[in-house]
Amino acid sequence: MSTPITTAWPTDAVYRYLNLAGATIDVLQVPGTVPATALCGGCDWTTNHPQGPVWALRESAQRHADKCRALPRPASA
Ligand SMILES: [Zn+2]
Repeated sequence: MSTPITTAWPTDAVYRYLNLAGATIDVLQVPGTVPATALCGGCDWTTNHPQGPVWALRESAQRHADKCRALPRPASA
């Protein structure tokens, strides 16, 4: 069985968090580009830090993970 913990991370994921319902929140950055983006796999929440380093999104992603209860989207067939 595949779980968010065992599922391969997206190519550009730097950090990954788990929300209260099992959806992942990925902090993504394409190497050499700004800004990094945080994206919830359960709801439509997303944010970025226009000029900051990728680690600046960790706190926002963690806060979202701590309160989001959106279920993970089903894997496409
Ligand atoms: Zn969410």
